[in-house]
Amino acid sequence: MTKQLNIRSQFRPGKDVSRVGLFGGTFDPVHLGHLHVAEQVKDAFGIGEIIVVPSAIPPHKTLKEVTNARDRLNMVRMCFEHKQGFRISDVELKRNGPSYTIDTLRYFLSRSGSPGELMMVIGTDAFFEIHTWRAFGGILEQVPLIVIMRPGKESPEEGLPVEKTERYLCEKVSKGYSWYEDKGCFKHHFKKPIYLFQGTPWNISSTEIRNRVKNGKSVSSMVPKDVYDYIKQKGLYA
Ligand code: ATP
Repeated sequence: MTKQLNIRSQFRPGKDVSRVGLFGGTFDPVHLGHLHVAEQVKDAFGIGEIIVVPSAIPPHKTLKEVTNARDRLNMVRMCFEHKQGFRISDVELKRNGPSYTIDTLRYFLSRSGSPGELMMVIGTDAFFEIHTWRAFGGILEQVPLIVIMRPGKESPEEGLPVEKTERYLCEKVSKGYSWYEDKGCFKHHFKKPIYLFQGTPWNISSTEIRNRVKNGKSVSSMVPKDVYDYIKQKGLYA
């Protein structure tokens, strides 16, 4: 039987200020897709605070390929800093070398007086590479994931999100996951749940923004106004 992603069955725990979301990425640059999906996830999962964590050098990229950390951080600040319930962490930027999520997770889990339940927020494209991440098994044991369905990142022949995710988990991660329709998540006997989230899609990517700027096209509808002005003023991506 075909497994539909039933939006009505999504996890809706109500308000719980002790639930904290970690939203990491290169943010080169941050865009309205990041902002709007993070806001949707925050509401749908009753997350009190989302911590946005720009990475220094993503392990799969080189320094040359990525805009300098200061500019990316400045743009992330412009996008999220004034939004209630969002905080920006420069923990990965202060660490030397590549940014590994497992280190960031350990940092937030070990801090005294820090967050209640941590949840990791991640888009489908990043999620389907998780088996290549350092200590991915440990990540999945320590923190529930919220996987955001991303438009343009799925091809119809790959199947519906639930089926595709089930196949991926079984082949690359662990055979122990089962889909729970009523909770909208995959469960495992010793790993944390993996929730699939289908909100209002925002078909924007940083790659598209960089390409558009390079080709002299406008990106004013894709990034917040301050970020747009910053890109122009600094001549980024041109
Ligand atoms: P790039 O095009 O350079 O790969 P990106 O647009 O995917 O960049 P990232 O900084 O890599 O941006 O994204 C950070 C996180 O946000 C990732 O988990 C990614 O999957 C997710 N994300 C980015 N854009 C969207 C979007 N439009 N909808 C849902 N999730 C998104």
